Amino acid sequence: MLDSNIATMLFNCYVDLFAVSLCAKREKTTNDKCLLKRTSGKSLRRHPSIGHQGSAMSAPSPQPQAHSEFAPDIRITDVIAHPLTQKLPKSTVTSWGTYEHVSLVLVEIRTDAGIVGVGETLARFAPKAYAELINSTLRPRLIGKPVHQISAHWNSMRLALSGRCGGMLIEAIAGVDIALWDILGKAAKMPIWMLLGGEGRTSIPVYAASINWVDDAEADAELDAYLEAGFPRIKIKTGKHVKDSCRRIERMRKRAGDGAELCIDSNWAYNLDGAVEVAKALEDNKYFWFEEPLDPEDEAGYEELRKRTNVPLAAGESNYTVDQAQRLVQNRTLSVLQPDIARSGGISETKRMAEFADICGVGYAPHIGMSGIVCETASIHVASAMPNMRMMECHSDISPFKTEMADIASASQRQKNGELSVPTGPGLGLEINWDVVERLRTP
Ligand SMILES: [Mg+2]
Repeated sequence: MLDSNIATMLFNCYVDLFAVSLCAKREKTTNDKCLLKRTSGKSLRRHPSIGHQGSAMSAPSPQPQAHSEFAPDIRITDVIAHPLTQKLPKSTVTSWGTYEHVSLVLVEIRTDAGIVGVGETLARFAPKAYAELINSTLRPRLIGKPVHQISAHWNSMRLALSGRCGGMLIEAIAGVDIALWDILGKAAKMPIWMLLGGEGRTSIPVYAASINWVDDAEADAELDAYLEAGFPRIKIKTGKHVKDSCRRIERMRKRAGDGAELCIDSNWAYNLDGAVEVAKALEDNKYFWFEEPLDPEDEAGYEELRKRTNVPLAAGESNYTVDQAQRLVQNRTLSVLQPDIARSGGISETKRMAEFADICGVGYAPHIGMSGIVCETASIHVASAMPNMRMMECHSDISPFKTEMADIASASQRQKNGELSVPTGPGLGLEINWDVVERLRTP
């Protein structure tokens, strides 16, 4: 059962949305733009005059009276960024090289109601720099503010650094955003996927990631292990050498058999000519997507590759905001968009990216990579909600970030035959093991 205050708050959200809808209709006939301007989307959302209460540049936006009267007055009392580093039990090997260690930042947000939320910031390297950004620059914009105004907080934090959206700032915001959604869900006693109001899937399809770019014998063994674990869909890393990559594509298909669904991730390994040659091998061996064949900035290259292959193209883990994904999604160059929730501004912005992809008929496939259990779990919630969700990456490294940091097992440990159940507890549906956090703290 919902707390009566929370239920009332949600009811009033619907009332507010209904009122906005009525006003939008009214604008068509009476040209009354008062309410529509407040809520009309992307271009205004980034404008400094809209809804960022922490900015010194403008007065706070007026809040609907219903919110101020009935919303529970849960206020943020502290924001603490924890920089964490671990040695990977097994190295990850891609076209970029070998990863022995990986880092992240766990964001803890405390409230005056005693509810604590957690989020995760993608910070593969230099986690202390990310933690400093959050603690010194984002934290002051949040202290004392009501938890539920997540969009207002997002816009306030976005103004912490000047320049275009992207980089460390948006990754830092991602951790805060996820933590705020966790608190909101705990306060409402609802899982986040339910707050998002989407499809409400109780389980989602996942694919195994990844077979490393290692020698043939080791790659064979990794493939066998994934098949034994019951994964029907498996991703294979390829390297910079085009001919060797094509040989790996053919070898894995022969070994896995025609029944296995295979894709590759090249981590920007090729130029256009190389990518066309690899794409031909993928077509011949019936792979289901070609992930990040080119540099993420080479949008013209992606468009040209799209014309020269029938293999679906996937990308998006390098994008920070919906604006950066817009061109290749809108013109259907990509068949699948893969934002990483711990990079792409958290639940709020990732949901916008998935929704934009849906409008354009493009699929959504959450990227996880070497991130931790909070990133993985937040991704499951959004995946549960989005109508265009194709499948989620299930990174099967046995890293403590995924297997020890919380009271739930990792996705790779919980999946059964490529299906993963969605958490049902309030918020993210997990509790952090703070002893493990201390053990993994970056020295
Ligand atoms: Mg990738």
